[in-house]
Amino acid sequence: MRNARARTEAGSAAEIQKSDEQWRKELTPQQYRVLRQSHTERPFTGEYVHNHDDGFFRCAGCGSRLFRSDAKFDSGTGWPSFYEPVFAEAVELRPDNSLFMRRTEVSCRRCGGHLGHVFGDGPAPTGDRYCINSCSLAFEPATANEDRGDGQPPVTEG
Ligand code: FE
Repeated sequence: MRNARARTEAGSAAEIQKSDEQWRKELTPQQYRVLRQSHTERPFTGEYVHNHDDGFFRCAGCGSRLFRSDAKFDSGTGWPSFYEPVFAEAVELRPDNSLFMRRTEVSCRRCGGHLGHVFGDGPAPTGDRYCINSCSLAFEPATANEDRGDGQPPVTEG
């Protein structure tokens, strides 16, 4: 709760606020460590590293659509990598100077869950590389008759 308050004061309150106990109950231990404690999963261990299926990657914490399979590329890093989020407001970016590095943290705007980091060495068209922990994502396969969401963000205001 203290973290949630700090974010509120910083003007970036997540829409979904849950107690630490609640998150612990809902997430696997690994998801809890990554999403709520900003840990990083070991590279090449996540189930979506080599996923090339068509669909959306949702937040494993709250279900918000975060990335589209079209924007996924093979970075060789061992983590799912995307050149852009499904729409800019789906994620929140913050400076992260921990571990003696200057990085930009990527989190889910809706629930505040830590997803990974974004780097400036990605491919065209954006040049960005969103390096995302597999376990913070839940893949939603595209269905034949589904609108791919172009220009139509899902109902995840905030
Ligand atoms: Fe989320």
